[in-house]
Amino acid sequence: MTDNTWDNLQRGDSEAIWHPYAPAVGGAEVFPVVSASGVRLELADGRQLIDGMASWWCAIHGYNHPVLNRAVESQLHAVSHVMFGGLTHPPAVKLAQMLVKLTPPGLDRVFFSDSGSVAVEVAMKMAIQYWHGLNRPEKHKLLALRNGYHGDTIGAMSLCDPVTGMHYLFGDTLPKQLFAPAPQCPFDGPCTDAEMAEITALLSDHSHEIAAVVLEPIVQGAGGMRFYSPEYLVKVRALCDHYDVLLIFDEIATGFGRTGKLFALEHADVVPDILCLGKALTGGYLTLAASLCSERICNGISNSEAGAFMHGPTFMANPLACATAIASIQLLLSQPWQRTVQRLQTELTVGLAPARKFDSVAEVRTLGAIGVIELKEPVDMRVVQPLFVERGVWVRPFGKLVYAMPPYVMGSADVATLTAAMVDVVAQL
Ligand SMILES: *Cc1c(COP(=O)(O)O)cnc(C)c1O
Repeated sequence: MTDNTWDNLQRGDSEAIWHPYAPAVGGAEVFPVVSASGVRLELADGRQLIDGMASWWCAIHGYNHPVLNRAVESQLHAVSHVMFGGLTHPPAVKLAQMLVKLTPPGLDRVFFSDSGSVAVEVAMKMAIQYWHGLNRPEKHKLLALRNGYHGDTIGAMSLCDPVTGMHYLFGDTLPKQLFAPAPQCPFDGPCTDAEMAEITALLSDHSHEIAAVVLEPIVQGAGGMRFYSPEYLVKVRALCDHYDVLLIFDEIATGFGRTGKLFALEHADVVPDILCLGKALTGGYLTLAASLCSERICNGISNSEAGAFMHGPTFMANPLACATAIASIQLLLSQPWQRTVQRLQTELTVGLAPARKFDSVAEVRTLGAIGVIELKEPVDMRVVQPLFVERGVWVRPFGKLVYAMPPYVMGSADVATLTAAMVDVVAQL
């Protein structure tokens, strides 16, 4: 039994745990968190950090929220888990109805899974089984965008940017997909036909073997934190219709208000055939994801040889997670969240602006509750991470990106501290 002192936790961790994207032994320092409340993480030595990451963009309401705590507790006393094969339960029914109602008309059916990557795998399998049902099994490839990120499982990884997505490491294990250039048209600008030339050519040449186009609408997240024009989505939808290819939107990062709309697709008023949700779905409390699809997809799959959709995770539609998601969505919608996200956008824009003048900085950009400083060179995490902790904030850069995606409940003073720390640390690089 270890006690929760800093040294014990770090020692125990280094002996037995593997952290993400890290070597088993000798990686950068990890910081022990013993509790969290609001936007603050408490470390084992009593220090508090203002959390600029919302735990990888999930904890939109902050930590230890009474409403979400209550949702978990009351569901715990009803049923914490039950298999979903042949059984259903109130939180799953209610959450599915909410998701169908909140998303655009046409996305009428919900398949629950336990993480974003699996929701993407499910979407891929839905698209492939759909074309099987239509007797076109040769349509089984996916067309994704460069700079995209869709998760870390084998199928999802095959859709990630072929360079930064580490395709070279996994060689022939990964299915070979097609890639169109990353959108260059800025969020507030038009999207020219010239910009669409390459994806149009790919669809024109390969539509006979393409099941679906997969992309992250408006914001390419972990593949580079890049924002692009809603017009691009309008044009991709038209291309998919023209070439008879399905369209999958991965809103795992953008869903539930992050870009200023409840779903990023609302910037363009475009409806995909399949929509993936995850991350902020439970307000960061429990792991849950969903793949929504249209009646057209349901019918195609039902007509396929299997006659059923062939997927079924053990912890599918976990009742604790579903109950928390319902509470999280109700909590979000019960407040003027658009105004909150707009405030965060303004404060991030103002707070990060001083970084524009640094030679080391390529670009500073904000959209909704996302603030990004893109550097010219990748940061050294071993140097940068302790600098943030010393300043009392939690910011976890990757590659050339020092960014914040704070919980929506972060107050103005904390945003100012967070952005000042980001500017300060970048100034030292
Ligand atoms: C995080 C993320 C995923 C993967 O979700 P996990 O829950 O980490 O498996 C997929 N797509 C996008 C856009 C994401 O941001």
